[in-house]
Amino acid sequence: MAPIDGTYDYDLAVLGGGSGGLACAKEAINQGAKVAVLDFVTPSPQGTKWGLGGTCVNVGCIPKKLMHQAALLGEAIHEAVAYGWQVPSVDQVKINWSSLTEAVQNHIKSVNWVTRVDLREKKIEYINGLGSFKDPHTIIATLKNGSQKELTAKNIVIAVGGRPHYPDIPGAKEYCISSDDIFSLSNPPGKTLVVGAGYIGLECAGFLNSLGYSSTVLVRSVPLRGFDQQMAGMITSEMEEKGVKFHHRCIPVSVEKLETGQLRARWLNTETKEQGEDIFDTVLLATGRYALTEQLNLKAAGVNVLSENGKVVAETEQTNVPHIYAVGDVLEGRPELTPVAIHAGRLLARRMFGGASQLMDYDNVATTVFTPLEYGCVGLSEEQATQRYGADNLEVYHAFYKPTEFFIPQRNIRNCYLKAVALREAPQKILGLHFVGPVAGEVIQGFAAAVKCGITMEQLVNTVGIHPTVAEEFTRLNITKRSGKDPNPASCCS
Ligand code: FAD
Repeated sequence: MAPIDGTYDYDLAVLGGGSGGLACAKEAINQGAKVAVLDFVTPSPQGTKWGLGGTCVNVGCIPKKLMHQAALLGEAIHEAVAYGWQVPSVDQVKINWSSLTEAVQNHIKSVNWVTRVDLREKKIEYINGLGSFKDPHTIIATLKNGSQKELTAKNIVIAVGGRPHYPDIPGAKEYCISSDDIFSLSNPPGKTLVVGAGYIGLECAGFLNSLGYSSTVLVRSVPLRGFDQQMAGMITSEMEEKGVKFHHRCIPVSVEKLETGQLRARWLNTETKEQGEDIFDTVLLATGRYALTEQLNLKAAGVNVLSENGKVVAETEQTNVPHIYAVGDVLEGRPELTPVAIHAGRLLARRMFGGASQLMDYDNVATTVFTPLEYGCVGLSEEQATQRYGADNLEVYHAFYKPTEFFIPQRNIRNCYLKAVALREAPQKILGLHFVGPVAGEVIQGFAAAVKCGITMEQLVNTVGIHPTVAEEFTRLNITKRSGKDPNPASCCS
């Protein structure tokens, strides 16, 4: 295939073969462009590496969801007994960590393989090399064996994503793992300290605890910063009830390896100045992620990045150098989510090569935190809505509810809760929907389309529910926070 513009080897070179980069490359090929994708994984400090496909497939959404599912199945085995299943010696039910990681890794390898075949079939040139700029149109790929390959491209997309941040404390890089390592860890994690209470930290602590590995979380500021804080509280309460320990306002100080092979972690409470310590088998750092722009030699291309976090500022995915673009986690101020990277990458390719003009809309992107009781949301949190519109201009509808399937095993329903944040003035346009409960991701996805279409409270409660589901609870919302009425559930079917 010859490039559209013969001045360069390629019409498009994509740096990074993850969610955003691959979506952009595939769409560019559909539009007739000649495309090369560079993808290279630098091993984690613990030596973990993986194949083509980026974070989501290898060390993110996919293995995380599979481990979450493994955790849910463990709980389901116990609940099955209440439903009449005869399970021999339910107390003996245990996870086999190596079987779990093997199953997860086999799935990942099959996805890596399918991705490679897909690129080959689509005639996208895949270069397994670390890319950096030589000049604004020239990329140097450093291959595994150290040799270098140069290529030129008319347009370049930076889609290099990010990697876990390691706090600057003794023992961090030597002894700790991150989400890059947990899904392929060769030994069972055992008693685990999770440093960080963002969504990755909470999800890991949640599934580890449910799989039978005692989990403790160090929370520096608040859990799930940036998310609705009432809902974050529901999640952490649920996790605490399930046995996860939380140390609030604590930062790690050091991690030291003992003769037994275990790790002594020390931390500091930043409010009381009290020190704490305990011995763990595993310390998992989940203290944020940084953008992988340092190794790109962006100076040679003249692309500006933010000095504080290395992120690229690109309002419409176009950087300050007009033929160089960026999508995905590398972008400043955008949700770090796979579907966001994919959608932005696809739209960008259509604009670059298909004459399209549609821009990515980063508003009302739904997401789910896959903690034991899941939390799905779309739109504004109550805090964000209050800040933007003022409390007097909002109406917040809320309810606790009882999932039907929780009754027989007598599961705790204390934290099954949902709310709709709406404008107070009729017809009460909905600004945000929040749901804590089973299958929250499935519940919130459909409502996300409705919010995108501007659904109002009137339309929501005039939607006939599907009974008995948990999603129907949104159509039953009728109690406002302002009314002070009890949001606890009255009865199931009225
Ligand atoms: P990536 O997918 O990270 O891809 C970038 C690729 O570029 C990588 O392969 C990288 O190695 C490569 N690369 C970097 N530098 C270079 C270079 N110089 N040359 C060549 N290649 C390079 N999102 C969700 O939507 N839902 C979830 O449930 C979810 N769960 C997650 C759980 C975890 C534990 C983590 C860590 C992330 C999760 N995410 C989730 C986020 C999601 O994985 C990212 O938003 C998404 O992968 C970003 O895509 P990207 O294309 O920007 O980057």
